[in-house]
Amino acid sequence: EYKDMSKERMMEIRRQNCNPMTMKVTYYKKPVYIHQGHMQWLWDVDGRRYLDLFAGVATVSVGHCHPKVTSAAEKQLRKLWHTTNIYVYSPLHEYTEKLAATLPDPLKVIYLTNSGSEANDLAMLMARLHTGNFDVITLSYLKLCRSEYETGLTSICLFSSQTMCPDVFAGPWGGSNCRDSPIQTIRDCSCPQGSCTANDKYIGQLNEVFATSVPSRIAAFFAEPIMGVGGAVQYPKNFLKDTYKLVRERGGVCIADEVQTGFGRTGSHFWGFQGHDVIPDMVTMAKGIANGFPMGAVVTTPEVAASFAKGVHFNTFGGNPVACAIASSVLDEDGTQQISHNVGTYLLTELAKMRDKYEIIGDVRGKGLQIGVEMVKDKASRKPLPPAAMSEIFEDTKDMGVLIGKGGVYGQVMEWRSVWTGNGMEECMDR
Ligand code: PMP
Repeated sequence: EYKDMSKERMMEIRRQNCNPMTMKVTYYKKPVYIHQGHMQWLWDVDGRRYLDLFAGVATVSVGHCHPKVTSAAEKQLRKLWHTTNIYVYSPLHEYTEKLAATLPDPLKVIYLTNSGSEANDLAMLMARLHTGNFDVITLSYLKLCRSEYETGLTSICLFSSQTMCPDVFAGPWGGSNCRDSPIQTIRDCSCPQGSCTANDKYIGQLNEVFATSVPSRIAAFFAEPIMGVGGAVQYPKNFLKDTYKLVRERGGVCIADEVQTGFGRTGSHFWGFQGHDVIPDMVTMAKGIANGFPMGAVVTTPEVAASFAKGVHFNTFGGNPVACAIASSVLDEDGTQQISHNVGTYLLTELAKMRDKYEIIGDVRGKGLQIGVEMVKDKASRKPLPPAAMSEIFEDTKDMGVLIGKGGVYGQVMEWRSVWTGNGMEECMDR
C-alpha cells in the first residue's frame, strides 16, 4: 500500500531540492499536506477532508480523479502513451475535431502544447510573425512576464507595454455597474443610459499608450476575459470590444487568454470572450482543458496559421495521446457550463449578502465559477485589507476545511473557483 513521506522529510526536501518559489507561495503558516483527491474533495495525510474551492487554481475542472476521466486515461495508457505526431493517430484527431466545434468561425486551427505558458509564448510568436510587428500590449496588474504571477511568457518580456487595467472597483473612475454580473453590484455608477464614462477613460488610457509607448503598428493585444490571478477583475462591458477595434486598426491581433475562463467556467458562455461579444484572432487555453493533466492549446484562424506555416513548428509532447484522451473525456462531461452557472450564481448571491453586511468585504464579482471577493480596510477607502489580516482569514478558512485562492496585486482578493460537479457528497475511495 502507498505510504506518504513524513511531513518533516517533505519540508526538508522542499527547502533543499525544490524551486525556492515553492516555499514562498505556500499560503499557510501550517501548510496543507495533500494525500489524495476525489471530485471536489481533498484529503490531507492525516485524513482531514477539505472542500477544494480553488480547484488547483481553476485547473481541476470536472473533479479530482473523476472516475470517467481516470478511466479514459487508463484505457489510453494501456494502448499508446506516446508517438511523435509525424504519425497519424486517432486521439489527437478526435480531440481537435471536438475542440474546434466549441469555437466560432474562423477559430478552427489548433496547436496543442503542454501548458498555458507555452501556449502564450507560441501565440506571441505567431502574432509577431503574422503581423510583422513586435510590440505587445497587456493590461496593468499582470505583466505577462512578471514571474510572481507566472502567467506565461518567460522569453518575450521585452517590447511589452501595459495599458491601465479597467478595474471598476479599485480604479479611479468607478463604474462597477458597467460590468456583466448576475448579482447586483455596487451602485457607484452615474453613467447616462447606454454609455460608460469609466470605459471611455480606460480607452483614453489605451490611446495614450498608442501615442507614447509603442510604434504606430503593433503585434498584439493580450487579455483574459475576466482577469484570474489579478483578482477576478471584470472590465466595463464594452472595454474589450472597443480595445479590439483600436488594436486591429494598428495592425495588431487580439489574443484571449482563456486559461482560467475557458471551458464553461464563466457559466454564461463556453468561452469567456463570448461574454464580451468579440471574436479574438487567437485563443490560448490550458488548466481545465484536461482536468489537471499537463496540456494547453492555441487556437487561431487559417489566415494566422498560414503565416506561421512558412516556418517549421514542432512540439514533441503537444498532442500526446493520453493528454488528448483525457481532454476528450472532459469535453464529453455533460452540463459543466450549467453547473458553473448555477453554483456560481448561488455563491455570488450569498457572498453579496455578506458584502452588504460586513465592512471588510468590499466587492463581490465574477461570473460562474470565476469569482473574486475583494477584502478592504473599509468600504469608504476601498484600500486593500493588509496582508497580515488576509493571512489570518486564509489560515482560518483552511482550518475550517475550505481551500480558497489568493489573488490581486496585494493578495487582497479571495479567489473562488471550485470544480464543476453537481453532487455534494461523493465518498473518498480509500478512507
Ligand atoms: N494564463 C493564465 C490566465 C494563468 O492563470 C496561468 C497560470 N496561473 C497561465 C496562463 C500559465 O499557465 P501554466 O502555469 O500552465 O504555464
